[in-house]
Amino acid sequence: MTDYKKILESLPEAVAPYLGQGKKADYIPALASVPADKFGMALSTADGCDYVVGDANEGFSIQSISKVFTLSLAMHYAGEKVFERVGVEPSGNPFNSLLQLEHERGVPRNPFINAGALVITDVLLSCLRSPRNDFLDFVRTLSGNMDIHYDEQVFHSEYDNCHRNAALANYLKSFNNLEHSVSEVLDFYFYQCSLKMSCQDIARASRFLATDGKHPFRDERVVSPLQARRINTLMMTCGTYDEAGEFAFHVGLPCKSGVGGGIVATIPGEMSICVWSPELGKKGNSLPGMHALKAFVEKTDLAVF
Ligand code: GLU
Repeated sequence: MTDYKKILESLPEAVAPYLGQGKKADYIPALASVPADKFGMALSTADGCDYVVGDANEGFSIQSISKVFTLSLAMHYAGEKVFERVGVEPSGNPFNSLLQLEHERGVPRNPFINAGALVITDVLLSCLRSPRNDFLDFVRTLSGNMDIHYDEQVFHSEYDNCHRNAALANYLKSFNNLEHSVSEVLDFYFYQCSLKMSCQDIARASRFLATDGKHPFRDERVVSPLQARRINTLMMTCGTYDEAGEFAFHVGLPCKSGVGGGIVATIPGEMSICVWSPELGKKGNSLPGMHALKAFVEKTDLAVF
């Protein structure tokens, strides 16, 4: 049997050369104050075991990892209809590109770039009675941690610097791809991104993607097996900005990253993983995080191909 504990404990040494080589996201000022040398990783296996190393129990800003949870919840309620308003192609462009949205007449390339996530946010505003509370409940229940909360400081920091996301939302609205007001959509979107969770919380909360959509703690499905497969596929092709090809090549797992330095990954049938380290490489993915996943896959031989 693979000794996951031992493998995890070997990772801080494997990523040490990459600490100090990246740069924290500072376009959201609240993210810049997080200590750069943090590193944590958690596994949550399909049969319900947890393994952690380093700062895996420390909360951090999940940022775009939230896009996995919002897409899952939107598919739970609205099914494949969401893909009438957002595509499934990798973007090959920066995650907040206005140019691409203009070119594609207001239909975002995929749900994991900002424009796509704004459309998914709009879908959720139609499906949920109390969107902010319902989404928080969803993530709390999936992770089994009722203490998870939105970080108001990060929320306000992003709101005060939201010019580009506001431009994207206005564009979407001008193309009639938002039903709600721009301010309602932005407000809920920034709350999702401001969620503070640990690697352990995120690994548990995404375990359903490794178990054909089964809820980790309830006798129900979060999404159908086909939907789980599709979300994993989108993570593989579109989950790591315009570095998705490098991730598929070097890591070989469905992944979704966030500018807070977290990356969630799935090994279907086996486990979900979350790694966190705040310094990002040139394309906006955690540099130590990417190398930790690469080392983990090399040591376990668990890539999907
Ligand atoms: N809240 C961030 C933004 O919209 C999320 C970016 C990310 O993590 O990719 O700019």
